[in-house]
Amino acid sequence: MKTAYYLSVLNIFISSCTLDQTNTEIPSDGVDVVKRETISKDTVDVEDTVLFVVPESGFITMQNYAEGFVYDMKYATEDNFLKKKVYNCEECWLRKEVADALIKTNKIFIERGYRIKFFDCYRPLDVQKIMWKIYPDARYVANPHASGSIHNRGGAVDITLVDMKGNELDMGTTFDHFGKEAHHSYTELSNTVLDNRKFLKTIMEANGFSSISYEWWHYNHKNARQYKLSNFQTECK
Ligand SMILES: [Zn+2]
Repeated sequence: MKTAYYLSVLNIFISSCTLDQTNTEIPSDGVDVVKRETISKDTVDVEDTVLFVVPESGFITMQNYAEGFVYDMKYATEDNFLKKKVYNCEECWLRKEVADALIKTNKIFIERGYRIKFFDCYRPLDVQKIMWKIYPDARYVANPHASGSIHNRGGAVDITLVDMKGNELDMGTTFDHFGKEAHHSYTELSNTVLDNRKFLKTIMEANGFSSISYEWWHYNHKNARQYKLSNFQTECK
């Protein structure tokens, strides 16, 4: 089987994972993994290797695309509100445009002694349906039968900040704390917590991301709504 190498301007390659064909609904707007023919003019066969440029709308995995981030992909573990593992592997998939914006933003955090830590990135629509069934509260879980989540479009991230030793900044609650303490408007918190949330929010918003009222950890990329809902999963080797 051919190994697909993805040659972008940064000369990166993307993922060693294969698509799970039993549970794969590939979005039609530029998933690089399977839609090679759509970018054939940028494709070069070199022995057993396929090289091509990743379009802005293409999906990439952050772990293979960029350095300098930290990962704790909660839905690839049982440490989440579902209490079960719903992702095949611990990969952070995002649209390339969103990934590039995060790389730029992370550089700003790194200059100040911190880094972005991911809890969640792209989320398959089927996983959104599982979440909605367990917790049908649109403040915290987007309705998959309506417009879905920006996570389902590969355009949202759940993140916090860590210092250079990997210690998380105190944000006042854990990730996926579904209560008023996680709201941006909630101020009965220590000055340290309020300053940490403000630090994350200010820099994210200055770099093309928007926050939502009820979750200090969630950020949407400004162009994410243009992307279609997706439902592919990957298998890990
Ligand atoms: Zn989120």
